[in-house]
Amino acid sequence: MKITDVKAVILDYHLEKPVETSFGAMPVRTNVLIRIDTDEGISGIGETWTNFPHWAAEERKITVEKGIKPVILGENPLNISYLWEKMYRALMKSGAGLQWGAKGPLMQAVSGVDIALWDILGKKLASPVYQLLGGKVCTEIKAYASGLGPRDYEEYVQNSLEKGYTAFKLKVGFGKDLDLHNLNTMRRMIGDDRMLMIDSNQGWNDADEAVRHLKLYEKYNLEFIEEPVPADRLEDLKKIKDCGIMPVAGGENVYTRFEFKKVFANEVLNIVQPDITKTGGISEARHVCSMARAWGLPFAPHMFGTAVGLAASLHLLASTPNGLYMEVDANPNPLLTDLLEEAFFSFQNGSFILGEDKPGLGIKLDADLLKDLERR
Ligand SMILES: [Mg+2]
Repeated sequence: MKITDVKAVILDYHLEKPVETSFGAMPVRTNVLIRIDTDEGISGIGETWTNFPHWAAEERKITVEKGIKPVILGENPLNISYLWEKMYRALMKSGAGLQWGAKGPLMQAVSGVDIALWDILGKKLASPVYQLLGGKVCTEIKAYASGLGPRDYEEYVQNSLEKGYTAFKLKVGFGKDLDLHNLNTMRRMIGDDRMLMIDSNQGWNDADEAVRHLKLYEKYNLEFIEEPVPADRLEDLKKIKDCGIMPVAGGENVYTRFEFKKVFANEVLNIVQPDITKTGGISEARHVCSMARAWGLPFAPHMFGTAVGLAASLHLLASTPNGLYMEVDANPNPLLTDLLEEAFFSFQNGSFILGEDKPGLGIKLDADLLKDLERR
């Protein structure tokens, strides 16, 4: 079997209301899917994270089609470990990685390609990806509604309550007045029994600033604080964790097992959140999960993209004993909610139910929706 083509497909969905975070707003949901074709007529689909900046999609298309395609064209797509190392070396250990310093975009590109390779492997062997990863450890995966706040989000909370969600994550880091107002609103809407988490998206500068805010927020009975400070400020993260006000989660901005090694060795997190479309694909996220297990930590994949990334994350969660729950963006995004015509999972009462075995990623994409949203 040989790889005959590698393409990056840019999809745009224009939002009525931008998605706001502590570091900026997203007026368009731009996602990039990776498609790999082979000489046996089997194609694989993957996803690379491209939410920020708004020009990331164009950069990613060039990185995938000029940086990665020549490295893997003509190779056997079933040799995923070999191809992962080949891509990693060609990008990260070349002028691109060593001099450009663009480890994030490069690893995001590798991630999308890696996911598509697993899809091909599963289709070739007529096996779901979770089976290839060791088989199911569960039949149901709890989800939480994410991306809520800081303004005009009540409708999305209500929709999520109606879908049966029992866990919710609010964005904070917008100043204590707005944060406290939103924490009040959230607790009023979801009640005392449902889980509430907060995410500051690296919004506070250091441990002192974070702890000052967390002391004010802890009365809302919070499951965890996610990314309280910049992801590389390990000393600050450690101080925040050691304060014991609430568990600390993070990992969406940590790339490859090599960076996670520092995170684990410094014991800065209580919950590990690698993003399968960022950290290095299914191959690398699997290593990170194993490392987390060895450190006695649960893992809850970060995901803020399309249904392709969601499906890939569910395969990993389905086959990982230390999986906790799946993040689901509650903002309107048809690329997440309407993209799949068929899937190996369904959603019931706030959980993903794993259903019939289907080969590869176990999804069939809506061709009409893809055509409507594809940038030309
Ligand atoms: Mg986050």
